[in-house]
Amino acid sequence: MQDIRPLHTWPNFKGLPYLIAGPCSAETPDQVRNTCAQIASGGKINLLRAGVWKPRTRPGHFEGIGEAALPWLQEASLATGLPLTVEVATAKHVEVALKYGVDVLWIGARSTVNPFTVQEIANALQGVDIPVMVKNPINPDLALWIGALERLYQAGLRSLAAIHRGFSALGVQKYRNPPQWQLALSLKSQLPSIPLFFDPSHTGGKRNLIYPLSQKAMNLNYEGLMIESHQRPDEAWSDAAQQLTPADLNTMLAQLCVRKTSVSDESENLFLEELRQRIDAQDRELIEILTARMELVEDIGYFKKAHNLAIFQRERWTEVFKTRPEWALELGLSAAFVEKLFLLIHDESINIQTSTFKKNLSENPFAEDKSKL
Ligand code: PEP
Ligand code: MN
Repeated sequence: MQDIRPLHTWPNFKGLPYLIAGPCSAETPDQVRNTCAQIASGGKINLLRAGVWKPRTRPGHFEGIGEAALPWLQEASLATGLPLTVEVATAKHVEVALKYGVDVLWIGARSTVNPFTVQEIANALQGVDIPVMVKNPINPDLALWIGALERLYQAGLRSLAAIHRGFSALGVQKYRNPPQWQLALSLKSQLPSIPLFFDPSHTGGKRNLIYPLSQKAMNLNYEGLMIESHQRPDEAWSDAAQQLTPADLNTMLAQLCVRKTSVSDESENLFLEELRQRIDAQDRELIEILTARMELVEDIGYFKKAHNLAIFQRERWTEVFKTRPEWALELGLSAAFVEKLFLLIHDESINIQTSTFKKNLSENPFAEDKSKL
């Protein structure tokens, strides 16, 4: 897939994360004014955020003030000197947001899932030069996320960014929307020039998770963060559990360690390079060992076929999944990791033996003693 190259670059990417903060929802003139002023006084935030049209999962909850909140936000933006972003979900939202001079738009997770909605927004933005940030769809579907960026690109929008806010999951979880980091990193590797921001608020869903999640995003080299902040979080009309006071937000940001992508010292670079070369050699060895293991698996497949044995043997499976995590622990590795790894290895072993069952017994190229087969 071709990379989408934004013509404009986002401001402030000078090794510092692009920071977006503001309340989940604009509620009252006073809440918008005070929250935004306190956020701006920390001097770290690049863009103010607030929802005026709120996509609530079930009806009967606060669904946003709507257009009436935009003058309050406009005023806060003027007073703080910070640009403003709001969420848009329909062509009408786009029209109203543009009328009030909103600087940046974002498309929410519930809109990204729907190509009709995204197309409607893209059509409404035809010929408009405004940055647009696209949150991941609520379901872990990378193509849908990329597709939304492509629809905007096709409409002529060039200043695009992606926001990773986690993916919905069944049951009680540590995170409100588990991050599934690999998926966002995969977006980053396919579209390297699109800035990737992280939203720890909707991912974590709880105040105490905002710092560790933000730090993780910095460790993974995300280009920015979008964080919800409210003057009195517990009284917030939406997402009360996950909002930080502006003071806590500023303390949290001061604690964040922003990682670099390279070291300037040549000898340190060489040291890293050397370690990576050793890893490369070990990975090669790992693959050779796996290849040899799979050859044995295939031998066993021929044996099972010759003796009409089932591929899956419960006792053997139990033994493998008891011993391997134990060995891992003995050697200082995580038992859960090794269990996951062996689930993959076992799955591939079953695939190999299944194809062995379709072959002729005389085809086994690995059996040392074919008389046993
Ligand atoms: C929000 O940012 O307030 C919001 C509704 O987020 P999401 O689309 O990620 O649920
Ligand atoms: Mn919210």
